Amino acid sequence: MPLSPERPDRSLPPVWANLYSDTQTKPTRAMREAMLSAEVGDEQHGDDPTVLALCDRMAALFGKEAAMFLPSGTMCNEIALLTHCSPGDEVLAHPTAHIVIAEGGAPAALAGVQITPLPGPRGQFDVETLAQALHPQTRHAPPQRLVVVEQTSNLGGGSVWPLDRLSAVAALAHQHGLAAHMDGARLLNACVAAGVSPHEMAADYDSVWLDFTKGLGAPLGAVLMGSADFIDAAWRWKQRLGGALRQAGICAAACLYALDHHVERLADDHENARELARGLAQIPGIEVELPETNLVFFDTAGTGLTAEALASRLRQEGIMISVMGRYRARACLHLDVGRKEVALVTEVIRRVVSSQ
Ligand SMILES: *Cc1c(COP(=O)(O)O)cnc(C)c1O
Repeated sequence: MPLSPERPDRSLPPVWANLYSDTQTKPTRAMREAMLSAEVGDEQHGDDPTVLALCDRMAALFGKEAAMFLPSGTMCNEIALLTHCSPGDEVLAHPTAHIVIAEGGAPAALAGVQITPLPGPRGQFDVETLAQALHPQTRHAPPQRLVVVEQTSNLGGGSVWPLDRLSAVAALAHQHGLAAHMDGARLLNACVAAGVSPHEMAADYDSVWLDFTKGLGAPLGAVLMGSADFIDAAWRWKQRLGGALRQAGICAAACLYALDHHVERLADDHENARELARGLAQIPGIEVELPETNLVFFDTAGTGLTAEALASRLRQEGIMISVMGRYRARACLHLDVGRKEVALVTEVIRRVVSSQ
């Protein structure tokens, strides 16, 4: 099988409800207009005014000394691993973490780190699980360097790490000389859902980043934050990986627009997710995981359909969902899916399942 995605099949009907991922949002006209009028400079040279404005605003919002604009969240994670760790170091993370399952093996290929899984329900581990995995630093053992948490946890069903657990995990890591990194792809979803400020959510973490291409609706961009020394060291990796940019202010303008206009509305996505979950729970054979944010995971086993079979039937109806396991499907709510679509999608799923 080729590794590249197939070209879209033109014989399929157009998609009217794209719940495949919150990455599938398209920049709105107003966002594009903000991009069009952005002041730009040479980002690699440190003088793109819009990128600098975004970085300053993000550092202030998250209570960190410095910030760096990058093309993607994956690059934020990998640069954080490269900056915190040396080859042979041990990183501790949940086995479903994005760095483990979705970055092409980059932690091994680029940073040369080995990852110890810290299991637990809903994509999270507790401080006791971390305590049991910590070992004395000896000549034999790999140096334990970094603990990674994912806020929200994607494969954990969009679950929100509670603040006290985040603090306890970071405190124990620090006590043992490890740094703490937060993959904040959907961090503002967590903040909006929990009513916690970004500043508090990230307070105990040495590095943290936010993705602008998920529910925030920007075409590209993520911002990595940390101490001034951390970001300074991270810049060398950004340069080495080819992530240093030129007139990136066009993209940073979309991110600034998203901060102004697309944060509070994340609550609508969460409400739509709960609405979809309520509807799906009524369909015989479907088991829904209670959504905490914008991701709705459900089990199709009781319907006689695999998640793949259901997804392909729905695609025939112009609906996209994603397949996360043999019987585990995911529907993502975001700014291109409204209340009306949620009701219609629920009805189509009911029809497809009952005609089974
Ligand atoms: C999407 C995602 C990433 C990667 O972000 P990209 O911008 O797609 O590279 C990392 N971590 C989590 C939890 C994600 O959901």
